[in-house]
Amino acid sequence: MEQITLDSFTTSDKPEGKPSVADIRFTGDPFVDMGRLVMDTLRQKTVEEKIRFVTDVYVDRWKGKIHPVFLNSKITIGHVVSKPEAQRKDSLEYYFGLLKEKKSVSKGYCRICANKGTLFEGGRHNYPMVGSGDFTNFYHFQESSLLICKNCLIKLYFLPLGLLKCGGKLMLFQIQSSYAEKLWQEDVILENLDKISRGSSEGILESNYFNGNNALFKFAADMIKKFKLYDHDSQRITLFYFTNYKDKCDVKIYDLPNPIFSFLKRVLKPDLKADWMYVVKKHYHFGKTNYRFDENSQEWIEVKKKIETSLDAEAYEGTRRNIIYDRLLSGESILGMLRKVHKSRQLHVHIAITYLKEVRNMRQEQIDLIRKISDKIVAMCQKEGNYKKLMTPIEGAKQNYELRGAILRMAKAYLQNGEAEPFVRSKDYVEYLFPDGQSWYETRDFLLICLYEKLHDLRVEPDQVSDTDVADVEEIGENPEDFNQ
Ligand SMILES: [Zn+2]
Repeated sequence: MEQITLDSFTTSDKPEGKPSVADIRFTGDPFVDMGRLVMDTLRQKTVEEKIRFVTDVYVDRWKGKIHPVFLNSKITIGHVVSKPEAQRKDSLEYYFGLLKEKKSVSKGYCRICANKGTLFEGGRHNYPMVGSGDFTNFYHFQESSLLICKNCLIKLYFLPLGLLKCGGKLMLFQIQSSYAEKLWQEDVILENLDKISRGSSEGILESNYFNGNNALFKFAADMIKKFKLYDHDSQRITLFYFTNYKDKCDVKIYDLPNPIFSFLKRVLKPDLKADWMYVVKKHYHFGKTNYRFDENSQEWIEVKKKIETSLDAEAYEGTRRNIIYDRLLSGESILGMLRKVHKSRQLHVHIAITYLKEVRNMRQEQIDLIRKISDKIVAMCQKEGNYKKLMTPIEGAKQNYELRGAILRMAKAYLQNGEAEPFVRSKDYVEYLFPDGQSWYETRDFLLICLYEKLHDLRVEPDQVSDTDVADVEEIGENPEDFNQ
């Protein structure tokens, strides 16, 4: 049999330092790059054998169920549905034809990989989400479709083996690093191939991560753990939830910003991990009825007809909203939520410190200053034998000036106590305690977190000291001129 090779699949065998124009591993197109990763993972030696293998999987094992990926393709178009031999024959004819450059429509540069050569028609039948041929103004120069090279089109044929099915949507992980590549290859593609070899694969691999935000954090944590990235550079993580199915065509993109990845690397280290997982678990959204979070077992409990059942995290972590994750991704502060947890139980203070440094850009000088002030406040409380008197004005501060007033009163009392060192130096007060452009309640919340930490250390329960509810201050709509009044 004539053996056909694809120009761009020889990267691993190529001598170093001799890149070819056709040799593009990462095109930047998530669909094409994932198809390439699937091809690289398959054991078959030639491209032709690989095409035969996936065609058999799609036709025989999956009974042609690749509709959400390819619309009206040689496998999914109406007249071949439930006719496996026609699906197989038409698909092999089409993709082998591409290899031999049959039915090309033009010559030029591929729109995806920019290689120069023979071009073919890309449409929703061979490339998800690529638009409609009915509207010629959708494409450059009113072309009838997207014009791309045979290499890109063949890679795309392998895409279904690199996807996860989440309800009505398909999840795609964008390959942006060797870590991302290896994670997805091992956890999704090899899992798929293993199921196929065991005869238990009946379609695109299913996942219960319907919630894109939660999925981002899961893959980031998996990547950090698998490759021990705790002290490595941050990795960009992007997920696509899409469907190319009929008129339901849709895509949503989820992106994990670098500062959040840096924060995760730290809080997933062994010394903070258990406390961080507690914070995350406690903040799944269950609504008020029928569910409660049990502090002892640290599990969610479902209450039905007075019977309590402990829920397995797998049952909800992919579907229930997580308020901590949502706020981290939307840029809203989680400091107030950490403060509440600190008041109720002992929690490692470095979660808040890492968050303030990596995500909120709080300077180390400010963190050190607030910690030092909290030491002085606790020492004053101990001296007076009264914690409530000093804690209440800080907890009760609903406005910037109330917090400032409380701190200035403490500074005065500290001076009257005859302490040698000032409570806070004026330069520190202006530059670090309430710096320009920062929300005053971050200072309040972090000060309270430090105070609660020390009270727990002294075995004084913060919620016994005071029953004042700390006001949650809305970030939205805050007038920047209110800072530093
Ligand atoms: Zn191309």
